[in-house]
Amino acid sequence: PSITTDMEVLTREVERYVSVKKLEIETLNIRENYRKEFMGNISHELKTPLFTVQGYILTLLDGAMKDKKVRKKYLQRASKGVERLIYIIKDLDMITKLEVGGLILNKENFNILTMVQNVFDLLEMKAAKKNISLVFDKEYFGEILVNSDKERIEQVLSNLIVNSIKYGKQDGTTEVSVENITKNKLLVRVTDNGEGISKENLQRIFERFYRVDKSGSRKEGGSGLGLSIVKHIVEAHNEKIYVESQLGIGSEFSFTLEKGK
Ligand code: ADP
Repeated sequence: PSITTDMEVLTREVERYVSVKKLEIETLNIRENYRKEFMGNISHELKTPLFTVQGYILTLLDGAMKDKKVRKKYLQRASKGVERLIYIIKDLDMITKLEVGGLILNKENFNILTMVQNVFDLLEMKAAKKNISLVFDKEYFGEILVNSDKERIEQVLSNLIVNSIKYGKQDGTTEVSVENITKNKLLVRVTDNGEGISKENLQRIFERFYRVDKSGSRKEGGSGLGLSIVKHIVEAHNEKIYVESQLGIGSEFSFTLEKGK
């Protein structure tokens, strides 16, 4: 081989090496930006409730403590703020586990009908505050077996139903249904007739921290992590999640599950 061929081979090798390194740097930059954005979002989400709690404590120390009624009211509000912080931290903990360590699934056979009933029971009080009816299209007895991680799927159901109540209208309805779609798959739907989601927001609601109402004064607490947790869990099961929604009319979230045997 001539010197020119050697040089050409060498040049190509160097070029290849440079492009691999460029790609590595790009990936690192993307990760670094992602990390920065994540950290920024976390501190933003934590700041609001922390400042609220601090505000009530300072007012109490400033003299409000003397009045028994005011004292109770402010302590209750401070406690609500702390409660919100705990929720956010729990969600963060979950999302970090899902994103960093991957999710180890403990699959087992269980009756999805009983699960829906249990989640309804847990959320009954929350729904009652807005006079929202929780409706299930199947009889509560009987059995439809599912093969999946029971605890995680309960969280998926719970997050979706909590949302349907939070963004549902006064006197509205949340309906859950379980449907056979193929020999091995079921589709679970959570439908509400609440505020609905516009087209442009619909594309983004599964992103971490994404919330349609970004104002600090929004009435519904939450971390903006609920749906990204839902999506992670469903996809870890190799299943699919769908959403359909119309502003002012309502939303339907649905996901597939493997049938149990
Ligand atoms: P969070 O409820 O804590 O804000 P989520 O990730 O659960 O976070 O939801 C993201 C956003 O999607 C919500 O802030 C809300 O704007 C919108 N959303 C979710 N579920 C519904 C629903 N059933 N109806 C209307 N909007 C919804």
